[in-house]
Amino acid sequence: MIKKIGWIVVLFISCNQKKVADISVSEMFATGKWVDLSYDFSDKTLYWPTASGFKLDTAFEGITTGGYYYSAFNFCAAEHGGTHLDAPVHFAKGKWTANEIPLDNLIGEAVVVDVKDSAMKNADYLISVADIEAWEKKNNAIPNNAVLLFRTGYGAYYPDAKKYLGTDQRGAEAVAKLHFPSIDPAAAEWLVKNRKIKSVGIDVASVDYGQSKDFKVHQVIYGQNIPGFENVANMGQLPVKGAYIFALPMKIKGGSGGPLRIIAWVKN
Ligand SMILES: [Zn+2]
Repeated sequence: MIKKIGWIVVLFISCNQKKVADISVSEMFATGKWVDLSYDFSDKTLYWPTASGFKLDTAFEGITTGGYYYSAFNFCAAEHGGTHLDAPVHFAKGKWTANEIPLDNLIGEAVVVDVKDSAMKNADYLISVADIEAWEKKNNAIPNNAVLLFRTGYGAYYPDAKKYLGTDQRGAEAVAKLHFPSIDPAAAEWLVKNRKIKSVGIDVASVDYGQSKDFKVHQVIYGQNIPGFENVANMGQLPVKGAYIFALPMKIKGGSGGPLRIIAWVKN
């Protein structure tokens, strides 16, 4: 009898495998939808108060002497602004630069820890170990190799600098006026010690909260060669589990980060 059941199991598995193999990649993707998690880059793009903003200069736009239309622009921007990558080397000497991050760390299944209820009430909110534990109680432990995303709800304020960053002032003296929620350093320590994550993303300007003075979360997470995604857009369109992330930054050689096109595939 046990032998028989064994054969049935084998048969079932091989039938199932054939079924999966028969579906093309396009057919598989057609069973879900794409979500754009990047803001566009323009003169409205939010940058750290001390960083240069995004500039698009027209090299040429119009009808050429040859009679055809042509447009080309030059752009200039800081690495860290808008939806962007933090390469581990941003806060950890010797760790991966933007071009060195393996694709495997930029692609994978996401889990979304939503702290909107607490964060929208307190611009200095720190996402705690208790928030992560509460998520795990409902959804099981964060799986190995997950792309861990935190949703504060602050995306609703983008690109209103006053609401999103806490100040619309620029320059070094504006840094002390930054108020937005982010990850508690104790939660970052807990994560790198107890869970195996590929990368971390959040819908605010930094993985450290606006009032941070030591950028401890940056140090702890990037110190483990875990890249970060900041100013992630449209996170409200993601399920708690099961979204598949593609986070493809500009491949700047030796860069500490860069503009990021991040998208998710979500099963219908
Ligand atoms: Zn950054």
